Amino acid sequence: VLAIGIDLGGTNLRWAVVDETGSMLVHRRQPTPSGNEATIRAIRDAVVGCREEYPDVVGAGVAVPGVVFGGDVTSTNLDWERFPLPRELQILDLPCVVENDMNAGAFGEKMFGRARGMQDVIFLTISTGIGAGIIVGGRIYRGSGGLAGEVGHTVVDLNGLLCGCGRRGCWEMIASGTAHRRRIREAFASGTWPKLTEEPSPDDVTRRAAQGDRAARALVLRTARYVGLGVTNLVNLYDPEAVIFTGGFARPNWELIHKYLLEEVRDQAFSQTTHLLLTELGDDAGILGAAALAFDAARSRESE
Ligand SMILES: [Zn+2]
Repeated sequence: VLAIGIDLGGTNLRWAVVDETGSMLVHRRQPTPSGNEATIRAIRDAVVGCREEYPDVVGAGVAVPGVVFGGDVTSTNLDWERFPLPRELQILDLPCVVENDMNAGAFGEKMFGRARGMQDVIFLTISTGIGAGIIVGGRIYRGSGGLAGEVGHTVVDLNGLLCGCGRRGCWEMIASGTAHRRRIREAFASGTWPKLTEEPSPDDVTRRAAQGDRAARALVLRTARYVGLGVTNLVNLYDPEAVIFTGGFARPNWELIHKYLLEEVRDQAFSQTTHLLLTELGDDAGILGAAALAFDAARSRESE
């Protein structure tokens, strides 16, 4: 049995035909077109192309960077305000599910990734911002209005920096990749690396840290410490079996931060058993999760 997993991002549209073990048979991408009509057409063309090659797909899942609720999608990345994507996709003539990308990613990790077989899991991205997909009792926890998982906007510092959401001291203002980059800029401006002529990128800092640059290492671990602070909050709230990490800060720095992060969380959290793991699915967690949701939907149609 096969399903199509689609990841509709603000930058790229990516899709794959996926089997029930999570293997991807075709895997393609293109830049996300601008405009709703062009976007729908691109999704339709992708699905038609997949079905020509694999006629027996049972459904498609679409992961989107936004709030999915009541048949509408609201997404700043896609510039959508209550856009009825599920209804628009009825032209596909194929059962189609639409899910928030972090929720889809969490489900992908649960079905095919590091969280396989787990029932209570948090999928956490530490990237430009911080967001989570939450699995409780084996099911995606969406909240009453599809707004669950906005963990980046939990306040950890009353007097902290002003966040885009309007509050001060949100977790992502100190623990995201953006905050990390800001501290790198400040360190460079204050003469931390006198031999460097230009500001090192976060990747440069990761490399330098691995090579023993103490200032670089301190910067990475400082961000890791702030990550640990919020992860501890999540662990105290949900007591998950595992937190699965992804994103532009967590992935390249994992080797460096993993042990430190685990010590931080074990030191502070009530749970002493929650695993902190790095994604194995990489950029494909959303695609695989969307396909897994399509399999799920097909199974529940069969049992009706
Ligand atoms: Zn905020």
